[in-house]
Amino acid sequence: MMESVTILGVPYLVKLVPVISLDELTVGQIDYLKQEILILEGLGDDLFQVTLLHEVLHGIFNQLGFDEENNEHLIQALSTALYQVLRENKLFS
Ligand SMILES: [Zn+2]
Repeated sequence: MMESVTILGVPYLVKLVPVISLDELTVGQIDYLKQEILILEGLGDDLFQVTLLHEVLHGIFNQLGFDEENNEHLIQALSTALYQVLRENKLFS
């Protein structure tokens, strides 16, 4: 299990938590101030990895100065597509 991830020089602790948000089904969240990425515990491997990639993309957008709050759809699309291509082609193992 990955315990931390460094995004453009900023280390984030990856934490598995039982609840992220009560009012919606949130599976992941990045906290820039605490430098934490929260992932809902109990996710399957694929959902865990695509969720982590999604939150990493938020971190990249944020770090590069893009307005990532208004780019949720783009981030969702990119994380799903990148995960599929990287995995299917075994670009990283
Ligand atoms: Zn998002």
